[in-house]
Formats: sequence, structure tokens, C-alpha cells
Amino acid sequence: MATEIPRSARIYVAGHRGLVGSAILRRLRAEGFDNLLTATRDQLDLRDQAAVNYWFRANRPEHVFLVAGTVGGILANSTRPAEFIYDNLMIHGTVVHAAHLHGVKRLLYLGSSCIYPRECPQPIREEYLLTGLLEPTNEAYAIAKISGIKLCQAYRLQYGCDFISAMPTNLYGPHDNFNLKSSHVLPALMRKFHDARVAGRDEVEVWGTGSPKRELLHVDDLADACLFLMRHYDEDGHINVGTGEDLSIRELAETVRDIVAPGMRLAFDPTKPDGMPRKLLDVSRLHALGWRHRIELREGIRGTYQWFLENHEEAEMRAAEHAMA
Ligand code: GDP
Repeated sequence: MATEIPRSARIYVAGHRGLVGSAILRRLRAEGFDNLLTATRDQLDLRDQAAVNYWFRANRPEHVFLVAGTVGGILANSTRPAEFIYDNLMIHGTVVHAAHLHGVKRLLYLGSSCIYPRECPQPIREEYLLTGLLEPTNEAYAIAKISGIKLCQAYRLQYGCDFISAMPTNLYGPHDNFNLKSSHVLPALMRKFHDARVAGRDEVEVWGTGSPKRELLHVDDLADACLFLMRHYDEDGHINVGTGEDLSIRELAETVRDIVAPGMRLAFDPTKPDGMPRKLLDVSRLHALGWRHRIELREGIRGTYQWFLENHEEAEMRAAEHAMA
């Protein structure tokens, strides 16, 4: 069953400055939605329930994309677990509760594929959640994200709220964090190859053994999927969002290298963590609903690198914002 969202609907994108939120905003604007609500971190601390309640009362959102959170790559996740668990638990809690109190019609909560057990059968089906131990490098973040799914389910069960959850695979695209310490692998590799080429070096360091496998989805495809799910998905269980294809970190590094700095040598550093051996999502439920990704990896990396070159100042500013102590 499709739920129409009128172009005049009051839509709140929580986390609009991030990789995902900015892609959702672009997408909503392109579709002609003109009542979009946002708030910067300075305007609204999403960890503060009273402030969030006040903001919802004043702004009366009807639809909410809950894509705000403290996020980062393997190093940030493993060294800042307190921030990752506290910020994310609080943000989900306050926004979901305020959405319930203020009669939000529909809320989409975005999780992450790291919610699944480390030793999961592959590809990972939605029902494998909570069937085993988590990957230690991102356990705190994963626990917060799992609680977000359960939060939406609980509000649906007890109060009849129309809140849904989607679990995307690893994401990349414009407006990403290119800080080498806190970023995910793809922007990190892009930046490392770029910097090495500019500096005339012939080797780039790649963390870990190169053997873990990752699935990557362009954030514009994710924004498309989020809108699709807002219109077409109405179940209390979460749904996976990905491409259904993965590749090794070595293959990924070679692909980025061939686009950004052909000929550069790769030097693997096995003292850095590999993290999850593999986390390929089973996307058959999403495919059965009629959604499929459109942007293939090579094309997506090319576009993202173009963005990086054309928006170097913004990339630098974001990298500075994501600096770690
Ligand atoms: P994960 O998917 O939660 O493990 O997070 P990441 O995207 O940070 O890392 C994915 C994989 O890429 C891990 O096996 C990392 O060790 C590997 N990797 C290789 N080089 C880098 C790098 O420069 N930065 C990051 N973040 N990961 C890297």
C-alpha cells in the first residue's frame, strides 16, 4: 500500500548536515517538497529531551527522517565508545518520544548493518538480528542502533505509532567526512590516494589485511530508498538497504587507486584492525517491494571524487569538524 506524502507536508530531516541527511534534503527539494524543517546542532541539541519536545511543539513536523547521530569509521568507533553509545541512545530516544507526543504521522529511523552478529551467515537476513555476539570494534554503536529499532517497535506496539526502521550498508558520497582518523574506509582511501599523488609519493597505507569484505551504497541511492520506504513500507520489523554485492578492501583500494592515482602502490598495515570479516546484506525483501540501487560503485566513486575536487574547502572544513583528540 502506498502512502502519498503531499508536497506541502512538514518534513523534518534530523541530521541534515550529515552525509545521509544532506542527501535526503537534496532529494526532497528535487521532488518539490517545500516545507522542509531542519535545525543545526547549535539550534537544537538532540540529546536534550526538553529542547526536542519544545522544538517539535513549535515546528509541528508531520514526517520525520531520523538520520542524526554520532558516526565514524573503525578507529573512531573503537576508541570513542562512550560518545557513540551515549549520543546515539539519547538522540533516538528524544526524537522518537517527541514524535509520539506531537503526533508525527510517519517516522523513518536509520540504523546500520553493524547491528548484526559478527559471525553472521552471509548474506545477512533481517531476522539474524540478536542471534549472536557483536563485532567488538563497533559494539557500543551497534547496541545503540539496535535499541533504536526496538524503540520504534515498542512505540508502534504500545501507542500505534507509524514508525519504521531501515538498516543501510556502508555508505559513501558527497559531503562525507574525509578526516583520516574518524572517517570510513572509502573517503579515507580517496583522500590518501589524492594526497599521495599531489605530494608525489608512490605508496599509500591501507589499514588491516585487505581481506575483509564490504558492501557500499551511494548515499543518493540511500536517499531514494528512504523516500521509497517512507511511501511503501509499513512493518514493525527493520528492512535492509544495500546493493547485494560486496568486494574486498584490497579490491576497493585498487578501484579507488585506479580512479584517483593510477599506478600507486598499496602498503597494507596488519597492525590496524580489520573489523567485521564480512557484512553483506540480503536485500531480497527490498527488491521484492520493487526498489533497486542505480549507482554502480565505480561510477559512484568517480562522482564522489569529482565532488571532493570541486569542494575541497568544504571537505577540509568537515574533516576539521570531525577531528579526534
Ligand atoms: P567498518 O565497516 O565499520 O569496519 O568501518 P570502516 O569503513 O572504517 O572500515 C572498513 C574496513 O576498511 C576495515 O577493515 C578497515 O581496516 C579497512 N580500512 C583500510 N584502510 C582504511 C582507512 O584508511 N580508514 C578506514 N576507516 N578503514 C580502512
